[in-house]
Amino acid sequence: MSYQTVNPFTAEVIKTFDNHDDAYVENALAKGHALYKKWRNDPVESRAAALNKVADVMAEKADELAKILTLEMGKRFSEAQGEVAISVAIARYYAKNAAEFLKPKEIASAIGPAQTISRPTGVLLMVEPWNFPYYQIMRVFAPNYMAGNPMVLKHASNTPMAADAFEKLVQEANLPEGAFTNLFIDYDQVSQIIADERVQGVALTGSERAGQLVASEAGKNMKQSSLELGGSDPFIVLDDADLSEIKKIISGARLYNAGQVCTSSKRFIVTEKNYDAIVDMLKTAFSEAKLGDPMLPETTLAPLSTVKAKTNLTKQVKAAVEAGATLAFGDVEQNQPAALFEPVILTDITKENPAFYQEFFGPVGQVYKVRDEAEAIALANDSHYGLSGVVFGGSAEHAAEVASQIETGVVFVNSFGGTLPELPFGGVKNSGYGRELGDLGIDTFVNKETIVTK
Ligand code: NDP
Repeated sequence: MSYQTVNPFTAEVIKTFDNHDDAYVENALAKGHALYKKWRNDPVESRAAALNKVADVMAEKADELAKILTLEMGKRFSEAQGEVAISVAIARYYAKNAAEFLKPKEIASAIGPAQTISRPTGVLLMVEPWNFPYYQIMRVFAPNYMAGNPMVLKHASNTPMAADAFEKLVQEANLPEGAFTNLFIDYDQVSQIIADERVQGVALTGSERAGQLVASEAGKNMKQSSLELGGSDPFIVLDDADLSEIKKIISGARLYNAGQVCTSSKRFIVTEKNYDAIVDMLKTAFSEAKLGDPMLPETTLAPLSTVKAKTNLTKQVKAAVEAGATLAFGDVEQNQPAALFEPVILTDITKENPAFYQEFFGPVGQVYKVRDEAEAIALANDSHYGLSGVVFGGSAEHAAEVASQIETGVVFVNSFGGTLPELPFGGVKNSGYGRELGDLGIDTFVNKETIVTK
């Protein structure tokens, strides 16, 4: 496996990185383990200043860091700046709140006074994807650094510069050696790390396939794991929805980050009354999207992350159309150069069509017509994914009731919410398990140790 930066807009190879050998990995684990032993006895607060320093360095270098994202995974520059900003906010959030989240809990027991104390568990491995290269790291790094768990990272093979840049930030903020080490390693080394007794857990964000493989290694070795996988997120439009509000957000809901977001709206589920209006609205939004160079401010739709991603998405669209879906907008051929992909709208997707249960990780919108609300809820839940969803309705209270019937980890009512440090995030069903961000996001790899005194 080679770690390589390839510009998705030009398909030009920018840089290739050498893999790290086993001795390098051993050194990272040894340093991480020694640090865990020390951190176990240090108060949580003692780590806050250094995490704020990571945030400061990141904010100072925001544009330089953002350019790396645009260069190696094709994100629009303004979106890359946004990713740096949310990563900074997550670091500051945990620096400020971790001690409160992890403070001891008093319990009055029949034996005597007891306390549940939050302790770190040891070195963690994070396996992260290319779609939000810094944000995905920060979601695991910030809470676990505060909790006292040192970390090693295996990042996606197409975003090595971002992985390297994150490690340099941590070094510049003077975090102790072993706190965070980036590793350019292969899948066998990932398995060896999970099996190592100094390593106590693995957090993965990515595909179901990678999740299955990595979680089974964790299970075999009895290690804690958390998985944040894909989603085929429903966007339900009820009869009384305010279409003018939907118009403001519909483009971003599907096209942000070139549609390569686990929580972006992929299935628009619309009652008969509004169906034509929503299809037209999507057509307008997609036809207005300016596909092009992600560095230019006039570009509103970036290329996909790799030429391979484009090839795979094109095949998925072709297969959907061959199986009877209507191509309501766009082209099946996708003759644009490099990883540029024109947006597509698919309608009339029957349950027999493979597209019905697939995630389309790019600018492809599926639109479904349903008779009523009950059918909308049933269709939304007829998915093996359960990450997030959106419900639009005239009465926020009623739309929230509908939202409560959607089997996902998060639902936004009358907005397309995005992500915030304080909002716990994660899925059910094949979208994974465990939560990141918010107060819940710090607990996954913490030992809630109960001490009872007679
Ligand atoms: P992958 O799941 O293959 O990649 C995610 C991470 O997992 C990468 O670091 C990858 O490394 C690593 N990985 C993959 N297989 C293994 C393995 N057997 N052992 C150890 N590490 C592994 O995602 P893709 O990039 O291939 O994207 C495919 C699909 O995944 C997308 O179309 C989308 O459906 C989903 N996805 C979801 C994301 C989300 O945010 N939930 C993010 C990205 C993808 P390497 O790059 O070296 O293969």
